[in-house]
Amino acid sequence: MGSHRPELSNKRWKTLRNLILERDSYRCWMCGNRANQVDHLLPPPLGTDAPENLAAACGPCNNRKHHRYVDLPVLTIQW
Ligand SMILES: [Zn+2]
Repeated sequence: MGSHRPELSNKRWKTLRNLILERDSYRCWMCGNRANQVDHLLPPPLGTDAPENLAAACGPCNNRKHHRYVDLPVLTIQW
């Protein structure tokens, strides 16, 4: 199992991304502008690649969000 990769293969991801973009009418879930990306509501490893955890997003919002998650306290908790 050493070669196991948690992320989806490119082909599966592309299919899934189109599915989510169509489901959300190509509208960014954060600002409502036209979306061309798909975002994780909960970023891995907290979230999964299930459709319930994915939403259409535009580039600017997607970038902003990823920066925000870097600072999430839950990610810095020491067990
Ligand atoms: Zn947006």
